Amino acid sequence: MIEIDQVHKSFGDLEVIKGVDLTVAKGEVVSIIGGSGSGKSTLLMCINGLEPIQRGSIRVDGIEVHAKGTDLNRLRRKIGIVFQQWNAFPHLTVLENVMLAPRKVLGLGRAEAEEIALKQLAHVGLSDKLKVFPSKLSGGQQQRMAIARALAMSPDYMLFDEATSALDPQLVGEVLDTIRLLAEEGMTMLLVTHEIRFARDVSDRVAFFRNGLVHEIGPPAQVINAPQRPETAEFLKSVR
Ligand code: ADP
Ligand code: MG
Repeated sequence: MIEIDQVHKSFGDLEVIKGVDLTVAKGEVVSIIGGSGSGKSTLLMCINGLEPIQRGSIRVDGIEVHAKGTDLNRLRRKIGIVFQQWNAFPHLTVLENVMLAPRKVLGLGRAEAEEIALKQLAHVGLSDKLKVFPSKLSGGQQQRMAIARALAMSPDYMLFDEATSALDPQLVGEVLDTIRLLAEEGMTMLLVTHEIRFARDVSDRVAFFRNGLVHEIGPPAQVINAPQRPETAEFLKSVR
């Protein structure tokens, strides 16, 4: 479970997270929607300890992320992240790219890492691209490779930060289908997305971020179909 409790985060004098409370239960899919600059990406960075916080707490499976003694490497193995773009190693094949972290971070042998990579590349539908170099993949295939790479570490959580925003429209669907599959398999996920319809279909709950705060949160049928707050309705109108 991810438990975010009254988190405040500033960059210098600029407070960008202003007291966020949010929990993601085991097996739950929570989507974060909201305008640019509202603090969505920053929150994800705080969850896996890439950014410090000034107040509040974030716990992942009870581990206090920002406590002094926390083993951040161990924590990050629990949490897979997929960003808008991942710069794969261009001189390594797709298979080798996905094998890399299991080998280097988990210390697995070649055969074992390869078995895991093959399984996850099949999972995302890239079994026919094993020996190909990343530059030969479409944007959608590259994002699916990034998902396979994260899954190869057997994470308990997956965080997605606008994983489809950099894609041509016709490539968005295949990546969303892969994320949807993970949701159906019960993966616990926090998704930052601009794909409102997708968020509505796949999420247990949707959080509308505004100005560094969770402005409205609830089941998609409420937040997306019948928002309680005028700012939520306004945002939804602006992205449709
Ligand atoms: P979102 O993902 O919702 O678009 P971000 O979390 O990226 O928003 O950014 C929130 C605010 O924090 C923005 O005003 C942004 O300019 C600022 N910000 C983000 N990262 C940094 C940083 N490393 N240093 C200074 N300001 C930052
Ligand atoms: Mg962002």
